[in-house]
Amino acid sequence: MTDIRIRFDGISKWYGSLCVVDNLDLDIAKGQFVSLLGPSGSGKTTLLMMLAGFETPTKGRVLVDGEPVDHLPTYRRDMGVVFQSYALFPHMSVGENIAFPLQMRGVGAAEIGERVARALDMVQLSAMRDRRPSQLSGGQQQRVALARALVFEPRVVLMDEPLGALDKQLREQMQLDIRALHNRLGLTIVFVTHDQSEALTMSDRIAVLNKGKIEQIGTPREIYDEPHTRFVAEFIGETNLAEGTVESVAGAEARIALKRGGHVIAGLSGKVAAGQDVLLSIRPERIELKDGTVATGNSIAARVADCVYQGDHLRVQLDGSAHGFIVRLDRKSREWQPGAEVVAEFRPADCRVIAP
Ligand code: ADP
Ligand code: MG
Repeated sequence: MTDIRIRFDGISKWYGSLCVVDNLDLDIAKGQFVSLLGPSGSGKTTLLMMLAGFETPTKGRVLVDGEPVDHLPTYRRDMGVVFQSYALFPHMSVGENIAFPLQMRGVGAAEIGERVARALDMVQLSAMRDRRPSQLSGGQQQRVALARALVFEPRVVLMDEPLGALDKQLREQMQLDIRALHNRLGLTIVFVTHDQSEALTMSDRIAVLNKGKIEQIGTPREIYDEPHTRFVAEFIGETNLAEGTVESVAGAEARIALKRGGHVIAGLSGKVAAGQDVLLSIRPERIELKDGTVATGNSIAARVADCVYQGDHLRVQLDGSAHGFIVRLDRKSREWQPGAEVVAEFRPADCRVIAP
């Protein structure tokens, strides 16, 4: 109990007749990096705003360290916030921007000087202290925003798509920098993104949001390897889907009759019963190709439609007889000719049953 830092307890948010967050429960442990991942409009920002105190839940409570915070204004919630737009004060220098939250909290001048210097050092901007935000690059401005959110050592840091405006290279560098800061300072971070690879890179846990509900929450590995729903399987990474019917269940595996013919053994995340229609999700890189026309073991027979060398991997498109699967092979694999007859093999654990 004591290690739960943040609890969303039955939170709903309505704007008029529009339900944006739908009776949502979520616990975030102390020191954890949790991403809220979902498409645009899924309610991520609204959820973060309710945690920060910029929005009020229609129903439910937000608790921090076991205490309801709904009556507290933002500045008394002890949270650092970083938005996509840097929202720096343009008329203040970098140093003054970072000092601002400390002045608001009545910290003495000497201590402010020390803490600002440390925060600048942390984001490697000590040399920029006297510049105006307009004299900095986008990445530098975002690092100032980060320093300003961290300088008062808040118990929680909230970030809403903070890297969205940066180009790819800088974004990837900042992802690692923020991750390193998180590890070094033991921060509790709630990080909003619609970018699945960003969430996979940075998070201890990912909560996948869809239409104001959490579809699935888990470690990046759980979310990627064992998606529970079609939405999660398709939103995180690329996947192949196949329709089938459950024939029998044994422990955490089921034998599935494929709609397009053949049988496979598939891994279960939830409960299914014999006779039930299901979807299978198989990641492209979990499939191997062999010569042949007969599917034995856990496999599907198919023809190659296309094979493209992509530098770091080979991408093979199978034809309709194998549900049009995409296969991602190691770059050193042999090339497959269009029309070649192949058997596509995969492990039961890599072939996941998801409810239809
Ligand atoms: P996300 O951050 O996941 O893109 P948001 O939380 O910003 O999603 O928005 C979720 C939904 O709520 C959207 O349909 C959006 O249009 C709506 N919404 C957000 N803020 C308001 C508001 N102040 N008034 C009315 N509708 C809003
Ligand atoms: Mg948003």
